Amino acid sequence: MSTELAPEHMIDVQFGRAEQHMDRIAPGLLELLLAPRRTITVNLPVELDDGTIETFAGYRVLHNQLLGPGKGGIRFHPEVSLPEVSALAALMTWKCALLRIPFGGAKGGIACNPKQLSERERRRLTRRFVAELGDNIGPYTDIPAPDLYTDSQTMAWVYDTYQALHPGENNLPVVTGKPLAIGGSEGRSEATGRGCVYAAERLLNLGVIPQLPSLQGARVAIQGYGEVGRVAGRLLHEHGAKVVAVSDSRGGVLAINGDRLDLDALNHHKADNGTVVGLAETRTITNADLLALDCDLLIPAALGGQVHAGNAEAVKAKVLVEGANRPVTPEADDILSARGILVLPDILANAGGVTVSYYEWVQNIEHHSWPLDEINGRLRSRINNATDRVVARWRAFTSSEKRNGACTDLRTAALVEALERLAAVLEQRGVWP
Ligand code: GLU
Repeated sequence: MSTELAPEHMIDVQFGRAEQHMDRIAPGLLELLLAPRRTITVNLPVELDDGTIETFAGYRVLHNQLLGPGKGGIRFHPEVSLPEVSALAALMTWKCALLRIPFGGAKGGIACNPKQLSERERRRLTRRFVAELGDNIGPYTDIPAPDLYTDSQTMAWVYDTYQALHPGENNLPVVTGKPLAIGGSEGRSEATGRGCVYAAERLLNLGVIPQLPSLQGARVAIQGYGEVGRVAGRLLHEHGAKVVAVSDSRGGVLAINGDRLDLDALNHHKADNGTVVGLAETRTITNADLLALDCDLLIPAALGGQVHAGNAEAVKAKVLVEGANRPVTPEADDILSARGILVLPDILANAGGVTVSYYEWVQNIEHHSWPLDEINGRLRSRINNATDRVVARWRAFTSSEKRNGACTDLRTAALVEALERLAAVLEQRGVWP
């Protein structure tokens, strides 16, 4: 893997750029905000359906607990590694701090190919992982959630396994993203895609791009048609935007004549064929073509490292909305910023998921459930508030004398906003002993 795409490089550079704006904080304290507090590696033997045994590597990184218990998803993917999980855990700390959610950051993952595992194999893998983690997760210490290729079913197994090992307590808040029948929250499965749309809408409404004051009529391309891309596409359509192209791991489709895609037909096609490719009245394009489309909003909602120094010059969108975690490298950030293209960063754009996870956790502790309208209303005001703070800070950067060479993009503004909050709490609490 090139240095540019290495997860630790991305995090280090992003952090370093924010640090340049933070002269009030003691240097030692800043280092503490970057390094993970605890990393765990486990090797998980699992009996496969054919009777053979395979051992998978699993990781859980607790990055920071300053604001509350660690929080973050568990992903199943062949590229899962300790550096990647650590970087994603840091993003969770920053995301929760930015959204003013009383959680720290954590992340977990198992290096496996989930597409090659049966449901029973994934269940055994999940249960073994939770058993190996033991008391390193808990309702008030470290709370998992879904991420890439894990879903509410996976979270039901996490809960059930933890409950079996800790009977007699209210263990529902140990994991979020659960099915509704097992203490899940209304609106959680859609929350990441919904948050993306709320953040993008607020950004445009704040007038950052005079010729694009709202989502109405905006042309949108979405990379990744999973839980985030699909929901974002539908909501954008409902807000009057035109989804002109989408892609998945097998390729993409562009509406013929630049018109909008028929999203109902697209959902049926994807359900029947396992891919968006081949949808009627579309032209097949590659993922590289999709990233270079002439559109208003580009939403990378798949994997990390998709927009890099090698393809950032080709991006033509006015705004890039990071539905995925870390889809844009720091080198690409520089290129996009120099070309006047805005990047709505992951720690804001995809924070809807963890925000509704927080609501699920509160409901579980209260033994109560809130209606969908209330959840979506709370989500909207929290995302709007965070977007307003980030844009205000970003505008202050551009008018301040401090600029001299320091990075002044939306990502840096978001990160400074998050880190200042963490640093203020760290300074007040002090370091033990
Ligand atoms: N995996 C999601 C994220 O990256 C959600 C995490 C959570 O709900 O805890 O933000």
